[in-house]
Amino acid sequence: MDTSNEKKLEQLGSFEISDQMLTLAQDNQRQNVFLNAGRGNPNWINKKARLAFNRLIKFGLQESERTIAEGDLIGYTELQDISTHFTEFLSPETNEIDHFLLQMLKYTDQLGIDSNDFVKELADGVLGNNYPVPSRVLKNSEIILNHYLESVLYNGTSLTNQTDIFPTEGGTAAIVYIFNSLRENKLIRPGDRIAINTPIFTPYLQIPELSDYELVEVDLQSTEENHWELLPSEIEKLTDPDLKAFFIVNPSNPGSRALDASALAEIKKVVQTNPDLMIITDDVYGTFVENFQTIYAVVPHNTLLVYSFSKLFGATGWRVGLIAAHKENVFDRLIQTLPSEDQKLLTQRYQLVVKEPEKMAFIDRLVADSRSIGLYHTSGLSTPQQIMEVLFALTHLLAGETDPYIDTSRKIINERYKNLHDALQLAADESCDNSKYYSLINIYELAERRYGRAFREYLASHFEYIDFLVRLAEKNGVVLIDGVGFGTAAGQVRVSEANLPTKDYKLIGREILEVLKEYHAAFEKLNSSTK
Ligand SMILES: *Cc1c(COP(=O)(O)O)cnc(C)c1O
Repeated sequence: MDTSNEKKLEQLGSFEISDQMLTLAQDNQRQNVFLNAGRGNPNWINKKARLAFNRLIKFGLQESERTIAEGDLIGYTELQDISTHFTEFLSPETNEIDHFLLQMLKYTDQLGIDSNDFVKELADGVLGNNYPVPSRVLKNSEIILNHYLESVLYNGTSLTNQTDIFPTEGGTAAIVYIFNSLRENKLIRPGDRIAINTPIFTPYLQIPELSDYELVEVDLQSTEENHWELLPSEIEKLTDPDLKAFFIVNPSNPGSRALDASALAEIKKVVQTNPDLMIITDDVYGTFVENFQTIYAVVPHNTLLVYSFSKLFGATGWRVGLIAAHKENVFDRLIQTLPSEDQKLLTQRYQLVVKEPEKMAFIDRLVADSRSIGLYHTSGLSTPQQIMEVLFALTHLLAGETDPYIDTSRKIINERYKNLHDALQLAADESCDNSKYYSLINIYELAERRYGRAFREYLASHFEYIDFLVRLAEKNGVVLIDGVGFGTAAGQVRVSEANLPTKDYKLIGREILEVLKEYHAAFEKLNSSTK
């Protein structure tokens, strides 16, 4: 690929560049097996929750036949005795999943959830025969999701009864809905300053720059030297009272680093000086760090929490995520302090769907806005998706503190990370705050380490930064993702430890070194011809 084409490529976002690389890699010159370590999509899935979903469908259908049964046209479930029917349906002695479902009933009973009510919610939910009601979240589902979040993300802090949840079509929809409702409710306006922790998942860089938003981004940078840790000196930037909001991915993507206790303490301090700061934390990777604690647990009144089941449970195709907010929060408070002109407009906006729009909580506004208000009555995540979230959550809640599934997911990631670093002869970052879901590899640094400073400079000055990735794809069939689109310096590439067989990470390491060796051969040739 020539330089001008590479320059055009560099204009695209990281994921779009990666798509272009896929084509190159699929018919790579060496005819190597094509290895795509670009995407964060895991290559594992959770089996138990899916089997449970399947059993619930079976039960739901059987139950529906009690009311109407005319061939393929069958009826609806009824509340009375449905949990008795369910326990009769289950064979816990012979069927492991039925045993799980029975345990689930015991667990929810202990939480004070009415079993008829819950079984009906599950059965109707998986069948999807009704609009989601209440539209924000199914009643019992919210309780279970709350317990899940508390168990995996809060690290001992109790917020279950104080948290409202809005399940969404993955973390992606959560992000889009939040930006949109913040703008619609005048909580962020064009020209406002917002902070982000960079490098960061591309949409957080791209959305604020769109003409609909025109936000000014302030970077809280983490660097390779500090193992992508967000230092207190950077967090301090949040004390600026002009900053409206802070968007953070924690553990970060692509840096894969979680905030430690001292960083969380710093955040708490910052919120004391800047009590109007709105924080949006995307904790999709939280479960990959042992004893992880979310910002939401530390400053719940200022924080919206985004979570997704996509990564841990291998469920990107399901589109299952959520937004959580404290019942008392800065978003609601700031809406109350808007200029009266804005308040009037917002009252007009939401009075189409609620009687007292002034009192409508921000999280409910998110739900209404997600369907352009007019379709509020049909809003909410599809009920099968909500029940899938609940079942994923329950696999963890019934497994207890040392959930073997979560443990295994961490072990897999860890082994792949080790394979890659061993092959590249790079030191592993064994900090307990490193999720290891992604690795950022500095190609220039690697070049210098292996062949010296002059070679590094040659590489950086003679080639577009994207050239390394193009060659790696075109010749060796390996696709990685460019880090610049995430806000890294040129030369950083992201390797996902989620989506390839564990042994392939050694191969990726070798191919990276192979490409460097070829650049080096050209460099030597150039040197000898100019001598
Ligand atoms: C993968 C990812 C998501 C996307 O989640 P989906 O639920 O698949 O939409 C959100 N945030 C970050 C930081 C991610 O890396």
